[in-house]
Amino acid sequence: MDVLNPATGGVVATVPASGLAETDSAIERARGAFDAWRSVAPGERARLLRRFASIVDEHVEELAALEVAQAGHTIGNARWEAGNVRDVLNYYAGAPERLSGRQIPVPGGLDVTFHEPLGVVGVIVPWNFPMPIAGWGFAPALAAGNTVVLKPAELTPLTALRLAELGLDAGLPEGVFTVVPGKGSVVGQRFVTHPAVRKVCFTGSTEVGKQIMAGCAEQVKRVTLELGGKSANIVFADSDLELAAASAPAAVYDNAGQDCCARSRILVQRSAYDRFMALLEPAVKAFRCEDPSLETAQMGPLISAGQRASVESYVDGAEVAFRGSAPDGDGFWYPPTVLTARSTGDRHWREEVFGPVVSVLPFEDEADAVRLANDTEYGLSGSLWTRDLGRAIRVARAVETGTLSVNSHSSVRYWTPFGGVKQSGLGRELGPDAPLAFTETKNVFFRTEE
Ligand code: NAD
Repeated sequence: MDVLNPATGGVVATVPASGLAETDSAIERARGAFDAWRSVAPGERARLLRRFASIVDEHVEELAALEVAQAGHTIGNARWEAGNVRDVLNYYAGAPERLSGRQIPVPGGLDVTFHEPLGVVGVIVPWNFPMPIAGWGFAPALAAGNTVVLKPAELTPLTALRLAELGLDAGLPEGVFTVVPGKGSVVGQRFVTHPAVRKVCFTGSTEVGKQIMAGCAEQVKRVTLELGGKSANIVFADSDLELAAASAPAAVYDNAGQDCCARSRILVQRSAYDRFMALLEPAVKAFRCEDPSLETAQMGPLISAGQRASVESYVDGAEVAFRGSAPDGDGFWYPPTVLTARSTGDRHWREEVFGPVVSVLPFEDEADAVRLANDTEYGLSGSLWTRDLGRAIRVARAVETGTLSVNSHSSVRYWTPFGGVKQSGLGRELGPDAPLAFTETKNVFFRTEE
């Protein structure tokens, strides 16, 4: 597999694609390592995860540079992403010693529950956030006593491969965390069909997620799905319009819009629409799309020529309100773009564009805002802007989404649960309960009657 630099189109590295035999042998090694790993004393497992976190910390610059080269992420984002792997490892290093079961009052005996690890967990990762999404799967899975096989996306395998090496350097036993680069239809599919893989943790498109879910049903295999999104950024007229407009570009153009949480639909209360658009225009034009290795870059290129063609197909024929700029020449560049929706039937309003394109539509009142926000098959993230506390609570509860921010555009905090509703996914990652999703609850009754 040729790994291309999206900012230049040049080849960064060539990585051999694993076939079925290599995938099976990685799964069997992970199965072989499981019994010993689950038996490692909780404090020792915690210590190994903390050591893994420290080694990642020592390599943040190297990992970030690799991500800039293979994915076109800005250097600022890429450092944050490597740091997120470190933080998530440290956070879940606390889990092995806290995976307590319960003692339940029962007649005639004693009843206790144990959170048993599942076995081998298969993690399948997309190309848009190769490091964090890998970490959200492997860190809690390892902490709960599972072994992990991980398939990075075809376009971006380099940082995951490096993380696996760093795990070995930290002292993780052979087979506990293995990265298997290759095609989704070969390696990823084998995670679904191999009986030793007891859970699949998939992040990617809704289309492939449905196939994974159907495949896992064959063996009643556990599955977590983190899928697509078309999140709403709802701006009420009573909000701090300056702040809402200043943050709207980063809320959708971060990572060139290739973000499942991108607020790609802006809903603005009609009475504030003209003012908001007047504030948004200079913010979009000032958004710096440039060589992602520059410290000043806020946005880099798209991942591939194919992705750029797909993004372009949404803008062709649509009503462009205004746009920022992007470099010319080599690389898969696309400028930050704002479209005005003619109706909720517009393709760019309904589908996940996965590029630096946002659609804007006015709404009348609170009920109208909720109706429009929920008129989508997705429900991953979103924001709402208002100074009215009661409204903030009402609307936050009414919008069908897994994660929502009030007067903020952040989505992901590793301390809090993350995931979607409707066709955006199934299950939650991150937050304090994530390790439990990598365990089965075993219930044991001890008779005490003579
Ligand atoms: P994709 O579904 O094409 O691929 C995701 C991963 O699945 C890749 O590693 C791919 O090789 C693998 N895969 C493909 N076909 C497979 C199959 N038949 N069996 C097993 N594995 C298979 O998605 P993508 O284009 O890499 O990523 C973009 C999508 O990911 C967007 O829709 C985006 O919204 C979504 N995403 C969601 C989240 C979230 O947390 N909800 C986060 C990031 C990205």
